[in-house]
Amino acid sequence: AGHNSSASSTGGRLIVLTGPTAVGKGTVEAALLAKHPEVWVSVSATTRDPRPGEVNGVNYWFMSESEFLRKEQAGEFLETAVVHGMAHYGTPLQPVLDHLAAKIPTILEIDLQGARRVKQQAAAMGLEVVYVFIAPPSYDELVRRLVGRGTETEEQRKKRLETAKVELAAEPEFDVTIVNNTVEQAADDLWQVIAQEYGIDAD
Ligand code: 5GP
Repeated sequence: AGHNSSASSTGGRLIVLTGPTAVGKGTVEAALLAKHPEVWVSVSATTRDPRPGEVNGVNYWFMSESEFLRKEQAGEFLETAVVHGMAHYGTPLQPVLDHLAAKIPTILEIDLQGARRVKQQAAAMGLEVVYVFIAPPSYDELVRRLVGRGTETEEQRKKRLETAKVELAAEPEFDVTIVNNTVEQAADDLWQVIAQEYGIDAD
């Protein structure tokens, strides 16, 4: 194993995986998990209804709004957000702390706004985090991934191009950048970061 620069009694730091919309964070994470099932990924809480096939505790922790708000009041979330002005989402704090304490590589995948909230919260709590920004190979490629089938109006297209530009500009806020050229390469690069952080022999 290589030198673990973050060596502490609680093991490695929390890995926060973030990046622009449509950059493929979830796909990279899935490829990482397929190769390294020992990695643990945080399961969010939500007040929205489960979709067909979704399993409580796997896709999300599904709960009522009153339960969510009670937990939020009690400080049980690392961060929360209201999405589409309707459902609440949040990252349960205790499971993150428990997995870190057990020295299990711990990942939180979250959008840029969420990552910024984690940054504020974690700093206030003294929770140590490595922020990994998943970047597209280029601005043009991000636009291609965002625009998808090209069924949208000119107005929507313009908005997406602007979003892509703004989101790419967030890169310097984070500690490590991984370019998502291919999913396999990006997953391998992410594993290198985790292995170094947790003092695991990466080879
Ligand atoms: P969906 O309901 O389609 O599964 O997710 C809707 C949105 O909620 C997605 O953009 C997803 O990134 C976001 N989301 C899911 N879990 C969390 C969370 O724990 N915290 C925050 N801030 N956003 C979340």
